[in-house]
Amino acid sequence: MKQNSVLATIYENICRDTGKQNESAKLIVVVRLLTLSMLIHALLCCVLVSITGHIGALVFSVASPVLFLAIFVLSYQWSTFASYCILNICILFWSCMNVYCFGWNIGIQHFLVVLLVFVFFCKYKHEAVKILYAAALFVLRLFLYYYCRSHEPIIPLADNLANALQMVNTFFIFLALGLVAYLFSSTTQEMEGKLIEYNRKLMKQANTDTLTGLYNRRRTMEYLENLLKAAETQISICLCDIDHFKRVNDTYGHDVGDVVLKTIAETFRKRLPPDTFISRWGGEEFLLIFPRLNGDEASTALETLRQKIRELTFDGGTENFTISLTYGLVEYDYHSDITTLLKEADEKLYVGKEGGRDRIIF
Ligand code: GH3
Ligand code: MG
Ligand code: MG
Repeated sequence: MKQNSVLATIYENICRDTGKQNESAKLIVVVRLLTLSMLIHALLCCVLVSITGHIGALVFSVASPVLFLAIFVLSYQWSTFASYCILNICILFWSCMNVYCFGWNIGIQHFLVVLLVFVFFCKYKHEAVKILYAAALFVLRLFLYYYCRSHEPIIPLADNLANALQMVNTFFIFLALGLVAYLFSSTTQEMEGKLIEYNRKLMKQANTDTLTGLYNRRRTMEYLENLLKAAETQISICLCDIDHFKRVNDTYGHDVGDVVLKTIAETFRKRLPPDTFISRWGGEEFLLIFPRLNGDEASTALETLRQKIRELTFDGGTENFTISLTYGLVEYDYHSDITTLLKEADEKLYVGKEGGRDRIIF
């Protein structure tokens, strides 16, 4: 438990912000973790190199952990960009010096690949600089290779020590590559997830009415166009309108009117067949599309709905009240266009209003 909290504190500190505005929180974490792994790596190398008893090698290898420790500590004061650049320069310099001192066989040159990945994954958009840097790393690696072929290392290592260093270096190169790739790719995945969720929300906002949560007119037209284009089954369409709704607003207030609209939307959802497309067509008008019902079947479904709506009671503050709707229903004849269908439904709705309201006209 205690160990866990120590680890949590360490991690919290590693994640601590630079305190500067507009800085990427993820990049500084990658920089610090990479610096820490370089620090541990350098310490291990230090122990191994001390076996050679070579004073120059020892001074060099002791200087390395100090250097990485300094970068780690100063990363809390510098900007992320400064820490990132300085870490890059130090790893570059450190790799070259190691190759120069100990030769090609300890495998340290592979850190140049880590730098390549580090640079390309990071958020800075200097594409031209990144490409130039990659080219420079490529040339540097080739140069180091040919340099080592024609020059003996400054500090020759015994075979078993070179093997041990090769192993340590390989481990840390994989660790550093894994760290950089994992942390940066997790940001990308996170961002992608957020973007998908954001797009989903935007789509929902663009397609639905905020008060009732029903589809709006825009989405309804889109749905209707597609439905009629590929019509294989019978389709019925109903335009309905709340009776004397203005009176509800005037008598009980606009907020109560809103409650009525929401309750009616909810009743539509509950009482109509599950595949009914329900939309708020305008203020207190709704368009119901039955994609598989003929006029008679739709009329039966609407009659059940009409009665359920009549049974609803609303709290108007001083008194309770009930409401009704009038319904204009048409059956798709497989050749009329949307405008004609809607006009027909509207005319039937008008007939229903004229005839006394609270009825289905088919
Ligand atoms: P009819 O029976 O002929 O349909 O009469 P009506 O009063 O329902 O029709 P009218 O067109 O005269 O009034 C509709 C009212 O609907 C007026 C408008 O203020 C109200 N309304 C439209 N949208 C909303 C809304 O989002 N919330 C509330 N509370 N009222 C709304
Ligand atoms: Mg009305
Ligand atoms: Mg109306």
